[in-house]
Amino acid sequence: MRYGNTKKILVTGGAGFLGSHLCERLLEQGHEVLCVDNLFTGSRRNIARLLGDARFEFMRHDVTFPLYVEVDEIYNLACPASPVHYQFDPVQTAKTSVIGAINMLGLAKRLKVKIFQASTSEVYGDPEIHPQPEEYWGRVNPIGYRSCYDEGKRCAETLFFDYHRQHHIPIKVARIFNTYGPRMHPNDGRVVSNIVLQALRNADITLYGDGSQTRAFCYVDDLIEGFLRLMATGPEVTGPLNLGNPGEFSIRQLAECVIELTGSRSRIVHRPLPPDDPRQRRPDITKARALLAWEPTVPLDEGLGKTIAYFERFLTETDHG
Ligand code: NAD
Ligand code: UDP
Ligand code: UDP
Repeated sequence: MRYGNTKKILVTGGAGFLGSHLCERLLEQGHEVLCVDNLFTGSRRNIARLLGDARFEFMRHDVTFPLYVEVDEIYNLACPASPVHYQFDPVQTAKTSVIGAINMLGLAKRLKVKIFQASTSEVYGDPEIHPQPEEYWGRVNPIGYRSCYDEGKRCAETLFFDYHRQHHIPIKVARIFNTYGPRMHPNDGRVVSNIVLQALRNADITLYGDGSQTRAFCYVDDLIEGFLRLMATGPEVTGPLNLGNPGEFSIRQLAECVIELTGSRSRIVHRPLPPDDPRQRRPDITKARALLAWEPTVPLDEGLGKTIAYFERFLTETDHG
C-alpha cells in the first residue's frame, strides 16, 4: 500500500549510470522504484546501495520483450549510450531503442501513465547549427557506425510523438547532452571516464584528433534534477527539451583540467578521430530554462573533482589500479 503522493515508478536502464542516480533520487523523494535492466552495460554494483531498500525492486529484463507490470509513471532509459557499447551489437542497439520504445509506450498506453524518454543530442548528428535549438532537425548519417544509436533514438522520438497524437499518452522527451559523474562505466570509452582513469594511472591521455573538437559536459546531479522537473510539468509540455550544460570546452581543455586536478604525470598523446565524430556540440537550453526554471549549477572542476574521487575509490575497491 502506498500513501500520499508517492508513486510506483518504473525506471528502465535503472542499473546504468544515469538510471542508478535517478532511482536513488526517486527513492529519496519517497517513491517506490521498479528498476528494469538487462545488465548489458549496467551493473548490480551501481544499485548495490539501493537493494536493501524495501521500496526498491530490481527486475532483470530486456525491454525488447514485452513487459507487463503495474506502475504509475515510466522513465525509459534502457539503451547503451557510449559508442563502444552501442556499436558492440548495433542491431541490438537499434532494437532496444525502437522495440524497447514500442513496448514501453504500449505499457504506458495500457496503464494511461506518463512516460519519459531519454533521447539524446545525437539526434542532431554532426550539426550545421550551433548551439542546437530543439527546432533543428539535425544532420545524421543514416547508414554509418553511429546510425544504430542516432537513428534508433530518432525513431523512438517519432514513436513517442505518434503515441502521443494517436493514443493521447502524456510524453516527456528529453534530449540529453554529454553527462558525466560517479558510476560512469569505466570501460565505455567515453571521454571523461577515459581521461580520468588514464590520469589516475599516470597513463598516456588519448586525445582523438587534435583535441580541438568541443563538447559541453553536464554533471549528473544537475541532469537528474532536470529529468524530475520535466516529469513534473503539465501535459502540455511534451518536449523535446534539451537538457545539458551550455558551458563548452575543447577536449584538450578537459584533459588539461583533469591533469591539474589529479596532479597526474600523464602525457597527452593523439589518436585518429573516429568516423562521424561531431566537431562541436553545445545545448541551447533556453526552453528548459523557461519551462522548468532549470539550469545546471555544478561547475566543471567541481563535478570532475567528484568524478575523480569516485574513480579513485573504484580503482582501490576493484583492484584495477
Ligand atoms: P548506461 O549504459 O550506463 O545505461 C544504460 C542502461 O540500459 C544499462 O544499465 C544497460 O544495462 C541497460 N540496457 C541496455 N539495453 C537494454 C535492454 N535491451 N533492456 C534493458 N536494459 C537495457 O548509459 P547512461 O549514460 O546511463 O544512459 C542512459 C540513457 O540516457 C540512455 O538511453 C542513453 O541513450 C541516454 N543518454 C545518455 C547520455 C550521457 O551522456 N550519459 C547522453 C545522451 C543520452
Ligand atoms: N506491451 C507491453 N506491456 C503492456 C502493454 C503492451 O509490453 O502492458 C507491448 C506489447 O507487446 C505491444 C507493444 O507494447 O507489442 C505495443 O503496444 P500497443 O498496445 O501499442 O500495440 P498492440 O498491442 O496493439 O500491437
Ligand atoms: N575522445 C577523446 N579521447 C578519448 C575518448 C573520446 O579525445 O579517450 C573524444 C571523442 O572523439 C569525442 C569527444 O571526446 O570527440 C567526446 O567523446 P565521447 O565518446 O565521450 O562522447 P560523444 O562523442 O558521444 O559526444
